[in-house]
Amino acid sequence: RSWPVVFDTAVGSRLTDVDGNSYLDFFAGAGALNYGHNPPALKKPLIEYLTRDGITHGLDMHTRAKEEFLETFRDLVLEPRGLDYKVQFPGPTGANSVESALKLARKITGREAIINFTNAFHGMTLGALSVTGNSMKRDGAGVPLVHATPMPYDNYFDGTVSDFMWLEKLLQDSGSGLNASAAVIVETVQGEGGINPARVEWLQGLAELCRRNDILLIVDDVQMGVGRTGPFFSFEIAGIEPDIVCLSKSIGGYGLPMALTLMKPEHDQWGPGEHNGTFRGNNPAFVTATAALREFWSDDTLERSTIAKGERVEGVFTELAAASRVLTPKGRGLARGLSFSQPELAAKTCAAAFERGLLMETSGPSDEVMKVMPALTITDDELTEGLEIVKESVRAVMEGVSAE
Ligand SMILES: *Cc1c(COP(=O)(O)O)cnc(C)c1O
Repeated sequence: RSWPVVFDTAVGSRLTDVDGNSYLDFFAGAGALNYGHNPPALKKPLIEYLTRDGITHGLDMHTRAKEEFLETFRDLVLEPRGLDYKVQFPGPTGANSVESALKLARKITGREAIINFTNAFHGMTLGALSVTGNSMKRDGAGVPLVHATPMPYDNYFDGTVSDFMWLEKLLQDSGSGLNASAAVIVETVQGEGGINPARVEWLQGLAELCRRNDILLIVDDVQMGVGRTGPFFSFEIAGIEPDIVCLSKSIGGYGLPMALTLMKPEHDQWGPGEHNGTFRGNNPAFVTATAALREFWSDDTLERSTIAKGERVEGVFTELAAASRVLTPKGRGLARGLSFSQPELAAKTCAAAFERGLLMETSGPSDEVMKVMPALTITDDELTEGLEIVKESVRAVMEGVSAE
Protein backbone atom coordinates (compact mmCIF):
# COMPACT_ATOMS: atom_id res chain seq x y z
CA ARG A 1 0.00 0.00 0.00
CA SER A 2 2.74 2.44 0.82
CA TRP A 3 4.64 1.66 -2.38
CA PRO A 4 2.01 1.92 -5.12
CA VAL A 5 4.16 0.70 -8.02
CA VAL A 6 4.79 -2.68 -9.65
CA PHE A 7 8.34 -3.88 -9.09
CA ASP A 8 9.99 -5.96 -11.76
CA THR A 9 13.72 -6.55 -11.30
CA ALA A 10 16.28 -6.07 -8.56
CA VAL A 11 20.04 -6.29 -8.22
CA GLY A 12 21.93 -5.77 -4.98
CA SER A 13 20.31 -2.88 -3.16
CA ARG A 14 18.34 -1.52 -6.10
CA LEU A 15 14.88 -2.40 -7.37
CA THR A 16 13.34 -1.31 -10.65
CA ASP A 17 9.63 -0.94 -11.34
CA VAL A 18 7.78 -1.69 -14.60
CA ASP A 19 8.11 1.96 -15.66
CA GLY A 20 11.88 1.84 -15.29
CA ASN A 21 12.06 3.84 -12.03
CA SER A 22 14.81 2.80 -9.68
CA TYR A 23 14.58 2.50 -5.87
CA LEU A 24 17.25 2.10 -3.27
CA ASP A 25 16.39 -0.63 -0.76
CA PHE A 26 16.54 0.15 2.98
CA PHE A 27 14.05 -2.65 3.69
CA ALA A 28 15.82 -5.82 2.49
CA GLY A 29 12.78 -8.07 2.55
CA ALA A 30 12.23 -7.34 6.25
CA GLY A 31 15.56 -9.03 6.90
CA ALA A 32 15.21 -11.87 4.37
CA LEU A 33 17.67 -10.27 1.93
CA ASN A 34 20.75 -9.61 4.06
CA TYR A 35 22.95 -10.24 1.00
CA GLY A 36 20.83 -8.08 -1.30
CA HIS A 37 18.82 -9.05 -4.35
CA ASN A 38 20.09 -11.80 -6.65
CA PRO A 39 23.67 -11.85 -5.30
CA PRO A 40 25.88 -13.32 -8.09
CA ALA A 41 27.78 -15.63 -5.73
CA LEU A 42 24.47 -17.36 -4.91
CA LYS A 43 22.74 -17.06 -8.27
CA LYS A 44 25.41 -18.94 -10.17
CA PRO A 45 25.33 -22.14 -8.05
CA LEU A 46 21.54 -21.95 -7.97
CA ILE A 47 21.28 -21.81 -11.77
CA GLU A 48 23.84 -24.59 -12.12
CA TYR A 49 21.91 -26.73 -9.63
CA LEU A 50 18.64 -26.24 -11.51
CA THR A 51 20.35 -26.83 -14.86
CA ARG A 52 21.78 -30.16 -13.74
CA ASP A 53 18.35 -31.26 -12.47
CA GLY A 54 19.34 -31.24 -8.80
CA ILE A 55 16.56 -32.33 -6.44
CA THR A 56 14.14 -29.42 -5.91
CA HIS A 57 11.62 -30.89 -3.50
CA GLY A 58 13.00 -33.37 -1.04
CA LEU A 59 10.84 -33.46 2.10
CA ASP A 60 13.15 -35.06 4.67
CA MET A 61 15.04 -37.24 2.22
CA HIS A 62 18.82 -37.26 2.42
CA THR A 63 20.08 -35.14 -0.47
CA ARG A 64 23.48 -33.95 -1.57
CA ALA A 65 22.36 -30.30 -1.26
CA LYS A 66 21.17 -30.86 2.30
CA GLU A 67 24.36 -32.69 3.22
CA GLU A 68 26.53 -29.88 1.86
CA PHE A 69 24.51 -27.29 3.74
CA LEU A 70 24.74 -29.18 7.04
CA GLU A 71 28.47 -29.71 6.66
CA THR A 72 29.08 -26.08 5.74
CA PHE A 73 26.88 -24.83 8.57
CA ARG A 74 28.83 -27.00 11.01
CA ASP A 75 32.24 -25.98 9.64
CA LEU A 76 31.68 -22.24 9.16
CA VAL A 77 29.05 -21.35 11.76
CA LEU A 78 28.79 -23.79 14.66
CA GLU A 79 32.34 -25.09 15.16
CA PRO A 80 34.20 -21.77 14.95
CA ARG A 81 31.84 -20.43 17.64
CA GLY A 82 32.15 -23.50 19.84
CA LEU A 83 28.40 -24.13 19.57
CA ASP A 84 26.95 -27.61 19.68
CA TYR A 85 23.47 -27.73 18.18
CA LYS A 86 21.42 -30.28 16.34
CA VAL A 87 19.68 -28.85 13.31
CA GLN A 88 16.00 -29.34 12.57
CA PHE A 89 14.39 -28.25 9.31
CA PRO A 90 10.88 -27.21 10.28
CA GLY A 91 8.54 -25.80 7.63
CA PRO A 92 10.35 -23.02 5.77
CA THR A 93 9.03 -19.95 7.62
CA GLY A 94 10.04 -18.17 10.79
CA ALA A 95 6.69 -18.91 12.39
CA ASN A 96 7.23 -22.59 11.77
CA SER A 97 10.58 -22.51 13.51
CA VAL A 98 8.96 -20.75 16.47
CA GLU A 99 6.14 -23.31 16.57
CA SER A 100 8.61 -26.17 16.60
CA ALA A 101 10.67 -24.49 19.34
CA LEU A 102 7.61 -23.98 21.57
CA LYS A 103 6.38 -27.52 20.98
CA LEU A 104 9.78 -28.99 21.71
CA ALA A 105 10.19 -26.97 24.93
CA ARG A 106 6.77 -28.17 26.11
CA LYS A 107 7.55 -31.74 25.18
CA ILE A 108 10.91 -31.73 26.97
CA THR A 109 9.63 -30.13 30.17
CA GLY A 110 6.07 -31.43 30.26
CA ARG A 111 4.95 -27.83 31.02
CA GLU A 112 2.58 -25.68 29.01
CA ALA A 113 3.40 -22.13 30.06
CA ILE A 114 5.79 -19.93 28.09
CA ILE A 115 7.22 -16.59 29.21
CA ASN A 116 7.41 -13.97 26.48
CA PHE A 117 8.13 -10.24 26.39
CA THR A 118 6.28 -7.01 25.82
CA ASN A 119 6.40 -5.91 22.17
CA ALA A 120 7.72 -9.28 21.02
CA PHE A 121 7.01 -10.50 17.52
CA HIS A 122 7.27 -14.19 16.70
CA GLY A 123 4.98 -14.81 13.71
CA MET A 124 1.38 -15.24 12.64
CA THR A 125 0.44 -18.83 13.50
CA LEU A 126 -1.42 -19.49 16.74
CA GLY A 127 1.49 -20.60 18.93
CA ALA A 128 3.71 -17.80 17.62
CA LEU A 129 0.89 -15.26 18.03
CA SER A 130 0.33 -16.35 21.61
CA VAL A 131 3.85 -15.08 22.43
CA THR A 132 3.52 -11.94 20.25
CA GLY A 133 2.63 -8.58 21.81
CA ASN A 134 0.95 -6.53 19.09
CA SER A 135 -2.79 -6.37 19.87
CA MET A 136 -3.87 -5.88 16.24
CA LYS A 137 -2.01 -9.01 15.18
CA ARG A 138 -3.24 -10.98 18.20
CA ASP A 139 -6.83 -10.01 17.39
CA GLY A 140 -6.48 -11.76 14.05
CA ALA A 141 -6.29 -15.13 15.80
CA GLY A 142 -10.04 -15.33 16.38
CA VAL A 143 -9.52 -17.79 19.25
CA PRO A 144 -8.10 -17.29 22.74
CA LEU A 145 -4.30 -17.09 22.78
CA VAL A 146 -3.26 -18.92 25.90
CA HIS A 147 -0.35 -20.41 27.87
CA ALA A 148 1.90 -17.37 27.58
CA THR A 149 2.75 -14.72 30.20
CA PRO A 150 4.25 -11.44 28.96
CA MET A 151 7.05 -9.90 31.02
CA PRO A 152 8.68 -6.45 30.66
CA TYR A 153 11.41 -6.38 28.00
CA ASP A 154 14.64 -4.52 28.71
CA ASN A 155 14.07 -0.82 29.39
CA TYR A 156 10.25 -1.22 29.42
CA PHE A 157 10.10 1.16 32.39
CA ASP A 158 12.78 3.48 30.97
CA GLY A 159 15.33 2.21 33.45
CA THR A 160 13.25 3.11 36.52
CA VAL A 161 12.70 -0.51 37.58
CA SER A 162 15.58 -2.91 38.05
CA ASP A 163 15.92 -5.71 35.54
CA PHE A 164 13.74 -8.79 36.09
CA MET A 165 12.23 -7.42 39.33
CA TRP A 166 8.77 -8.55 38.27
CA LEU A 167 9.78 -11.84 36.66
CA GLU A 168 12.07 -12.85 39.51
CA LYS A 169 9.45 -12.06 42.11
CA LEU A 170 6.79 -14.09 40.29
CA LEU A 171 9.14 -17.03 39.88
CA GLN A 172 10.00 -17.06 43.60
CA ASP A 173 6.50 -16.44 44.98
CA SER A 174 4.47 -19.66 45.19
CA GLY A 175 1.40 -17.43 45.41
CA SER A 176 2.13 -15.45 42.23
CA GLY A 177 -0.12 -17.47 39.97
CA LEU A 178 2.61 -17.89 37.37
CA ASN A 179 2.46 -21.43 36.04
CA ALA A 180 5.69 -23.44 35.99
CA SER A 181 7.13 -22.48 32.64
CA ALA A 182 8.65 -24.57 29.88
CA ALA A 183 10.61 -21.77 28.26
CA VAL A 184 11.34 -18.10 27.83
CA ILE A 185 11.26 -16.86 24.23
CA VAL A 186 13.12 -13.66 23.41
CA GLU A 187 14.50 -11.54 20.57
CA THR A 188 17.86 -9.89 21.31
CA VAL A 189 16.70 -6.87 19.31
CA GLN A 190 12.96 -6.57 18.77
CA GLY A 191 12.53 -5.95 15.04
CA GLU A 192 8.79 -5.57 14.51
CA GLY A 193 8.37 -4.33 18.09
CA GLY A 194 10.26 -1.12 17.30
CA ILE A 195 14.00 -1.96 16.92
CA ASN A 196 14.49 -2.31 20.67
CA PRO A 197 17.91 -3.74 21.55
CA ALA A 198 18.25 -5.60 24.83
CA ARG A 199 21.49 -4.77 26.61
CA VAL A 200 24.17 -7.43 26.83
CA GLU A 201 23.88 -7.49 30.65
CA TRP A 202 20.14 -7.95 30.36
CA LEU A 203 20.53 -10.93 28.02
CA GLN A 204 23.11 -12.45 30.35
CA GLY A 205 20.83 -11.87 33.32
CA LEU A 206 17.96 -13.54 31.51
CA ALA A 207 20.05 -16.58 30.58
CA GLU A 208 21.17 -16.88 34.21
CA LEU A 209 17.60 -16.53 35.49
CA CYS A 210 16.48 -19.30 33.14
CA ARG A 211 19.31 -21.54 34.25
CA ARG A 212 18.58 -21.03 37.95
CA ASN A 213 14.89 -21.69 37.48
CA ASP A 214 15.29 -24.64 35.13
CA ILE A 215 13.50 -22.89 32.27
CA LEU A 216 14.63 -23.34 28.66
CA LEU A 217 15.86 -20.28 26.80
CA ILE A 218 14.67 -19.86 23.21
CA VAL A 219 16.25 -17.06 21.16
CA ASP A 220 14.16 -16.11 18.15
CA ASP A 221 16.92 -15.02 15.77
CA VAL A 222 14.68 -15.09 12.71
CA GLN A 223 15.21 -11.39 11.92
CA MET A 224 18.34 -10.44 13.86
CA GLY A 225 20.34 -13.58 13.06
CA VAL A 226 22.47 -14.23 9.96
CA GLY A 227 24.54 -11.12 10.56
CA ARG A 228 21.89 -8.42 10.86
CA THR A 229 23.47 -7.02 14.04
CA GLY A 230 27.04 -7.93 13.03
CA PRO A 231 27.89 -11.43 14.27
CA PHE A 232 26.21 -14.47 12.68
CA PHE A 233 24.03 -15.04 15.75
CA SER A 234 22.78 -11.90 17.45
CA PHE A 235 23.28 -13.42 20.92
CA GLU A 236 27.04 -13.93 20.43
CA ILE A 237 27.86 -10.53 21.95
CA ALA A 238 26.32 -11.69 25.24
CA GLY A 239 28.27 -14.95 25.28
CA ILE A 240 25.08 -16.89 26.05
CA GLU A 241 24.11 -20.28 24.64
CA PRO A 242 20.36 -20.58 24.21
CA ASP A 243 18.81 -24.03 24.49
CA ILE A 244 16.90 -23.50 21.25
CA VAL A 245 17.49 -21.01 18.41
CA CYS A 246 15.07 -20.08 15.62
CA LEU A 247 16.48 -18.99 12.26
CA SER A 248 14.74 -18.18 9.00
CA LYS A 249 14.50 -15.02 6.85
CA SER A 250 18.11 -14.66 5.56
CA ILE A 251 19.38 -18.19 6.23
CA GLY A 252 18.41 -19.27 2.68
CA GLY A 253 20.35 -16.24 1.49
CA TYR A 254 18.50 -15.59 -1.75
CA GLY A 255 15.06 -14.82 -0.41
CA LEU A 256 14.14 -18.49 -0.85
CA PRO A 257 12.06 -19.91 2.03
CA MET A 258 14.06 -21.86 4.57
CA ALA A 259 14.10 -22.18 8.35
CA LEU A 260 16.15 -23.93 11.00
CA THR A 261 15.46 -24.81 14.60
CA LEU A 262 18.69 -25.40 16.48
CA MET A 263 18.64 -27.33 19.73
CA LYS A 264 21.21 -28.52 22.23
CA PRO A 265 21.75 -32.23 21.44
CA GLU A 266 20.19 -33.40 24.71
CA HIS A 267 16.99 -31.54 23.79
CA ASP A 268 16.42 -33.50 20.58
CA GLN A 269 13.55 -35.50 21.96
CA TRP A 270 11.39 -35.46 18.84
CA GLY A 271 9.82 -38.69 17.72
CA PRO A 272 10.11 -39.36 13.96
CA GLY A 273 7.55 -37.23 12.09
CA GLU A 274 6.38 -35.44 15.22
CA HIS A 275 6.87 -32.00 13.66
CA ASN A 276 6.89 -32.57 9.93
CA GLY A 277 5.93 -30.47 6.90
CA THR A 278 5.88 -30.81 3.13
CA PHE A 279 8.33 -28.02 2.30
CA ARG A 280 11.08 -28.74 4.79
CA GLY A 281 13.46 -29.93 2.12
CA ASN A 282 13.61 -26.82 -0.05
CA ASN A 283 16.82 -27.89 -1.79
CA PRO A 284 17.36 -24.78 -3.96
CA ALA A 285 17.40 -22.84 -0.67
CA PHE A 286 20.00 -25.27 0.73
CA VAL A 287 22.16 -24.53 -2.33
CA THR A 288 21.96 -20.75 -1.91
CA ALA A 289 22.33 -21.04 1.89
CA THR A 290 25.54 -23.03 1.44
CA ALA A 291 26.88 -20.58 -1.15
CA ALA A 292 26.07 -17.67 1.17
CA LEU A 293 27.96 -19.21 4.08
CA ARG A 294 30.99 -19.85 1.87
CA GLU A 295 30.90 -16.37 0.35
CA PHE A 296 30.18 -14.31 3.45
CA TRP A 297 31.04 -16.30 6.57
CA SER A 298 34.48 -17.78 5.87
CA ASP A 299 35.98 -14.82 7.75
CA ASP A 300 34.78 -11.78 9.71
CA THR A 301 34.80 -9.25 6.86
CA LEU A 302 31.01 -9.00 6.65
CA GLU A 303 30.61 -8.84 10.42
CA ARG A 304 33.03 -5.94 10.70
CA SER A 305 31.60 -4.02 7.75
CA THR A 306 28.06 -4.44 9.12
CA ILE A 307 29.09 -2.95 12.45
CA ALA A 308 30.88 -0.06 10.69
CA LYS A 309 27.90 0.65 8.42
CA GLY A 310 25.57 0.46 11.40
CA GLU A 311 27.65 3.10 13.16
CA ARG A 312 27.31 5.37 10.13
CA VAL A 313 23.53 5.07 10.28
CA GLU A 314 23.62 5.68 14.02
CA GLY A 315 25.73 8.80 13.46
CA VAL A 316 23.17 10.27 11.06
CA PHE A 317 20.27 9.39 13.38
CA THR A 318 22.04 10.95 16.36
CA GLU A 319 22.61 14.11 14.35
CA LEU A 320 18.93 14.27 13.35
CA ALA A 321 17.80 13.59 16.92
CA ALA A 322 20.06 16.31 18.32
CA ALA A 323 18.44 18.81 15.98
CA SER A 324 14.85 17.97 16.86
CA ARG A 325 14.34 16.59 20.39
CA VAL A 326 11.29 14.54 19.28
CA LEU A 327 13.36 11.84 17.61
CA THR A 328 15.09 8.93 19.35
CA PRO A 329 17.68 6.73 17.62
CA LYS A 330 17.76 3.05 18.48
CA GLY A 331 19.15 -0.24 17.24
CA ARG A 332 22.23 -2.40 16.83
CA GLY A 333 24.36 -3.30 13.81
CA LEU A 334 22.38 -2.70 10.63
CA ALA A 335 19.02 -2.92 12.38
CA ARG A 336 18.36 0.75 13.05
CA GLY A 337 15.32 2.76 13.98
CA LEU A 338 14.40 6.38 14.46
CA SER A 339 11.47 6.77 16.83
CA PHE A 340 9.09 9.72 16.39
CA SER A 341 7.23 11.10 19.40
CA GLN A 342 4.32 11.76 17.02
CA PRO A 343 3.88 8.24 15.59
CA GLU A 344 2.24 9.25 12.28
CA LEU A 345 5.38 11.18 11.30
CA ALA A 346 7.32 7.94 10.87
CA ALA A 347 5.04 6.79 8.05
CA LYS A 348 5.07 10.30 6.58
CA THR A 349 8.86 10.22 6.52
CA CYS A 350 8.84 6.82 4.81
CA ALA A 351 6.38 8.22 2.24
CA ALA A 352 8.65 11.23 1.68
CA ALA A 353 11.58 8.86 1.21
CA PHE A 354 9.63 6.77 -1.29
CA GLU A 355 8.98 9.89 -3.37
CA ARG A 356 12.75 10.34 -3.41
CA GLY A 357 13.34 6.74 -4.49
CA LEU A 358 14.07 5.02 -1.15
CA LEU A 359 12.24 2.05 0.35
CA MET A 360 11.83 1.97 4.15
CA GLU A 361 9.10 0.72 6.42
CA THR A 362 7.89 1.45 9.94
CA SER A 363 7.75 -0.75 13.03
CA GLY A 364 6.73 -0.50 16.68
CA PRO A 365 3.36 -0.82 18.45
CA SER A 366 2.10 2.47 16.96
CA ASP A 367 4.26 2.28 13.81
CA GLU A 368 6.21 5.14 15.36
CA VAL A 369 9.64 3.88 14.31
CA MET A 370 11.21 4.50 10.92
CA LYS A 371 13.11 1.31 10.28
CA VAL A 372 16.40 1.29 8.37
CA MET A 373 17.49 -2.23 7.42
CA PRO A 374 19.57 -2.17 4.24
CA ALA A 375 21.22 -5.27 2.83
CA LEU A 376 24.45 -5.94 4.73
CA THR A 377 26.18 -5.88 1.33
CA ILE A 378 25.03 -2.35 0.49
CA THR A 379 27.96 -0.33 -0.87
CA ASP A 380 29.27 2.69 1.03
CA ASP A 381 28.12 4.97 -1.79
CA GLU A 382 24.61 3.52 -1.74
CA LEU A 383 24.48 3.88 2.03
CA THR A 384 25.54 7.52 1.73
CA GLU A 385 22.94 8.13 -0.97
CA GLY A 386 20.18 6.51 1.11
CA LEU A 387 21.14 8.36 4.27
CA GLU A 388 21.03 11.67 2.38
CA ILE A 389 17.47 10.83 1.34
CA VAL A 390 16.64 9.91 4.95
CA LYS A 391 17.96 13.26 6.17
CA GLU A 392 16.06 15.20 3.50
CA SER A 393 12.86 13.27 4.21
CA VAL A 394 13.05 13.73 7.98
CA ARG A 395 13.75 17.44 7.59
CA ALA A 396 10.94 17.90 5.05
CA VAL A 397 8.46 16.21 7.37
CA MET A 398 9.65 18.06 10.50
CA GLU A 399 9.54 21.40 8.69
CA GLY A 400 6.01 20.60 7.52
CA VAL A 401 5.05 20.01 11.17
CA SER A 402 6.55 23.22 12.50
CA ALA A 403 4.92 25.17 9.64
CA GLU A 404 1.46 23.86 10.59
C1 LIG B 1 9.58 -12.37 10.67
C2 LIG B 1 9.70 -12.95 12.01
C3 LIG B 1 9.06 -14.16 12.37
C4 LIG B 1 8.10 -14.86 11.46
O1 LIG B 1 8.68 -15.29 10.28
P1 LIG B 1 7.73 -15.68 9.06
O2 LIG B 1 8.66 -16.24 8.04
O3 LIG B 1 7.06 -14.41 8.61
O4 LIG B 1 6.76 -16.67 9.57
C5 LIG B 1 9.30 -14.68 13.63
N1 LIG B 1 10.11 -14.04 14.50
C6 LIG B 1 10.73 -12.90 14.20
C7 LIG B 1 11.62 -12.25 15.20
C8 LIG B 1 10.53 -12.29 12.95
O5 LIG B 1 11.10 -11.12 12.67
